[in-house]
Amino acid sequence: MPILNAQNLQKCYKTHRKSLMAVKDVSLQLAAGEVLAFLGPNGAGKTTSIKMIAGLIQPDQGNIRILDLDPHREPEALKHLGAVLEGNRNLYWRLTPEENLEYFGVLRGLTRKQARQQGRRLLDRFELNHKRKETIQKLSRGMQQKVAIAVAMVHDPKLLLLDEPTLGLDVEATETVKRLVREIASEGRGIVLTTHQLDVAEALSDRVAIINQGSIVTEKPTHELINQFSSSTYRIALE
Ligand code: ATP
Repeated sequence: MPILNAQNLQKCYKTHRKSLMAVKDVSLQLAAGEVLAFLGPNGAGKTTSIKMIAGLIQPDQGNIRILDLDPHREPEALKHLGAVLEGNRNLYWRLTPEENLEYFGVLRGLTRKQARQQGRRLLDRFELNHKRKETIQKLSRGMQQKVAIAVAMVHDPKLLLLDEPTLGLDVEATETVKRLVREIASEGRGIVLTTHQLDVAEALSDRVAIINQGSIVTEKPTHELINQFSSSTYRIALE
């Protein structure tokens, strides 16, 4: 069974003046251990698609299954899902990494003791132990991003959704986040990450789905895509 199966998603945003077809036709499938890069220029519909998969925005059309559960109808699906959707804004800035992990762990159904233990494991693993008592607002963006990913994993989900995980990070933090993504996938989790940077997709993903103006225009194993087109061709297309 795929970890994620999203078929023919569609979303139109309606305001009082106009309506905008943000997502016209998006289908994505993901197996355990796979990293899918969802690549496309700004405004292509990546975030909207990811939010539909995360159960935050109701699709107008289409079907979503996370391990065969519908995130919009079966809340059980959310147990299998972790998401970092708004940079590091899923965190409480005046709390410490330790407190964030405990708080979100309990929110995700762990006992306080389990949440503390799991928090400690993640802080160790993400090399954040020395910062566990600093407030989030005092940490660098790279550290904040690591805490955000740790928090998304506190309940041990099978599927991780990461919206632009390396955006705004310096070179060192980018490399750390890339390493973590690869490690997390190698444990048998599925990861969908959005990016508008071809090099991020190239470095991290097994498959790439390219979205443009709300529709997936191509989907291929990453190495095939890279071989088929020179990086510069796509870089230009994505700018
Ligand atoms: P970016 O990288 O800039 O976030 P994206 O590929 O993630 O781009 P979306 O954020 O999904 O794209 O946006 C797709 C389109 O929908 C854009 O034209 C955007 O302006 C519009 N849009 C996004 N959210 C809303 C909203 N809440 N109401 C109205 N229009 C929206």
